[in-house]
Order: sequence, then C-alpha cells, then structure tokens
Amino acid sequence: MALNLVMLGPPGAGKGTQAERFAREHGIPKVSTGDILRDAVHSGSELGQAVKAVMERGELVGDDLIIGIVRERLLRADAAAGFVLDGFPRTAAQATALDEITSARGPVICVEIQVPDEELVRRVRGRRVCDDCGANADAFEQKADVLSGLCQNTERCRDIGPKWVARSDDSETVVRERLKIYWRDTRPMIEYYSARPTFRVIDGLQSPEQVREALVGAVASALGMPAAELRTLVAQRLGGDDVAPSRARQKGEAQA
Ligand code: ADP
Repeated sequence: MALNLVMLGPPGAGKGTQAERFAREHGIPKVSTGDILRDAVHSGSELGQAVKAVMERGELVGDDLIIGIVRERLLRADAAAGFVLDGFPRTAAQATALDEITSARGPVICVEIQVPDEELVRRVRGRRVCDDCGANADAFEQKADVLSGLCQNTERCRDIGPKWVARSDDSETVVRERLKIYWRDTRPMIEYYSARPTFRVIDGLQSPEQVREALVGAVASALGMPAAELRTLVAQRLGGDDVAPSRARQKGEAQA
C-alpha cells in the first residue's frame, strides 16, 4: 500500500512540522520544495543563485523549474512506497503535473490545514529555524523557553551551538506578500482537489498533537480504513508489530 500524501495550506499552517512527523512515523520521505530550494540557496549552487531573490521577495519560482525538481525527487527509490509533499503543488500547472507524475502510483491523498490569516502572520513572525541545517524548531516540539538550546537535527548542529534564527522571508512584509500569492494562486488550485474522494480538511488551530491525530485520521479515512488499521499496516511495513507512535518514531529515526 503506497502512502502518497500532499499537505496543502498557507505558510505557517504547520504543514512542514506535520509533514516531517508523519513521514518519520510512516517510514516515507518528506519532500519539501521550500527545503530543497533553501538548501540550494545555502550551498550557493546554480539553482540556488537563480531562486534566491525570488524567494526573498516571497514570490513563487517558475513552474517548469519546480516541477522538474519534484519529478526527479519522486522517482528516487525511497519514494516508491510513498511520500509526503510539503509546499507542492502551489499552482494549477503544478497540480496538473503532479497528477501526471503520480498517475501510476495509487491514490494521492490531499489534506488541507486551515488557519486564519492573522494567526498565520503571528506564527510566522515568531518562527525560528536552525541557521545551519534549516530545520524548523517546531518540528522538534521545542518549547520557546528551551529555544536557546541546540538544534539536534544533525551532528554538526549538535556541535556548533545555539543557532536559532528567523527565516529571511518571514518578515511581516514578506509574509503578507506570500499570503497574497497564496490566496491568488494556491487556494483556487485547492478547489481543484476538493471534489476528489481523497480530499480532507483539518483545523490547524488545534494543538500540534491534535493536528497530528486529525491528520492520521484523515489519511486513514481517505484510504477507507480505521486509523488503527493504518497503524498496523505501517507497523508491519516498518518491520514490527503494532507499535505505539513513540516507538514508531524511534524506529523511523533509526532508519533515517
Ligand atoms: P511557506 O512557509 O510559505 O510554506 P516554503 O518553505 O514552502 O514556505 O517555501 C518558501 C519559498 O520557496 C516560497 O515562498 C517560494 O518562493 C519557494 N517555493 C517553494 N515551493 C514552491 C513551489 N511549489 N512553487 C514555486 N515556488 C516555491
């Protein structure tokens, strides 16, 4: 059973955090186009140089470029059993391309996380990422009072020291621009998915743990099975008995 999941929603809705955790617990890769592009900018590659200014303005990079990146990434062996897409598709052309890329891969489940704009601006302005690896502090369920601690994502981060910083495109002006583009280009595209039987909506104002549970429930219901059955299937695939989420997470990490 392939688990093909697309996370939809505005910047700051919690897609990245939830995608990261869902991928880890279900043994499939998270494919975040924002992360891929930020890595390219960080490394100074040709791609990074081409997209840096566009990203800093909060605009979208070209469809052909991003479609090519996603097509290549989803063809890799680790995505054969499924994937969690975060940040793609964002336009009608990208959605059409994704249908074509996934046409022979089983159902694609689309989950939209809904959060009002003012809450998004508040969240994004407070968001902190690791200056070295780009990981979002929220993804590690860090509380604000321990944010001065080290990023634990890679050995390098653990050694370097506290490096939590604001993302360069998270200033209020740029966030408002990203939201404008979201409502203009991306939200109409979500209408394209909303008529499908595998489309689900969840309330992103709940706690991260509640959103996580709602996400698992949404995926299971889109696949036509109870959440417990999905957990059993995933546990079997990860090579164990039916495991509690915390153990599944450790297993996922051990495999990473
Ligand atoms: P957000 O917090 O807005 O969800 P992301 O990390 O997904 O941010 O993306 C950051 C930036 O990367 C976007 O503002 C855009 O410039 C670029 N980007 C990411 N994904 C796409 C995409 N699918 N199409 C075009 N541009 C993209």
